[in-house]
Amino acid sequence: MLNYQIEWRGNEHTNFSSREGNTPLIIVNHVADASAASCDSWFRSSENKHSSAHFLVTFKGEIRQYVRIEDMAWANGLKLYDIPKAKSSLVRSMKMNPNLYSVSIEHEGTTGRLTEEQFQATLWLHCYIRDYVKNKWGYQIPMDREHILGHFEIDPLKKPDCPGKDFPWERLIKELQKKNTAEQWKYEGIEFLHQYGILSDLEGWKNKINEPMPVWAVCLLIERIIQKYETFKHTQRV
Ligand SMILES: [Zn+2]
Repeated sequence: MLNYQIEWRGNEHTNFSSREGNTPLIIVNHVADASAASCDSWFRSSENKHSSAHFLVTFKGEIRQYVRIEDMAWANGLKLYDIPKAKSSLVRSMKMNPNLYSVSIEHEGTTGRLTEEQFQATLWLHCYIRDYVKNKWGYQIPMDREHILGHFEIDPLKKPDCPGKDFPWERLIKELQKKNTAEQWKYEGIEFLHQYGILSDLEGWKNKINEPMPVWAVCLLIERIIQKYETFKHTQRV
């Protein structure tokens, strides 16, 4: 998978507020209904007093960020009395403004049809958000349709067409689930070695899952495994 650069574009006019201690539980997809340039200028405009999103993915596959994941963007707010009208059962069960527990992605365009570059970038971004939330809050957002939502599932009355009729739901979820299982074995390896007392700091290792390791550390790890094995052999003989 390609590695993407996220370009920070938030400025002093970008709207955001506190998550008030809530963990991000869902990722919400939107269509900008505009070009990336006009969405970008709106999220940075002093005139804009009512909306923002964490990310924007352009047709070219560029990723721009306006609000930190730690903060709440103003992308899919609901009045408390409108929460029971949400299509998502998770949103109905939460009984609070969905902005407090969501991360939002805008997509350049009008119908939700993504260019291939845009699709690959948003796919990467979903995984980035999942890993970021996992590292920061210890919660893994499941890559399924209960947790990867469209704006219409939060606000079917005012936003029935967001992220658009052509948004590639099926392909996105399929690819995300492939990536999820692709990553799972890495965690299983760490858990296995932890069970055998080879690795002690389970969460520390999990948080560094994709980081490179110096040669001496690899050797030390193998040495530890051999020592364990030798002790085991010894106890078996006794
Ligand atoms: Zn929307």
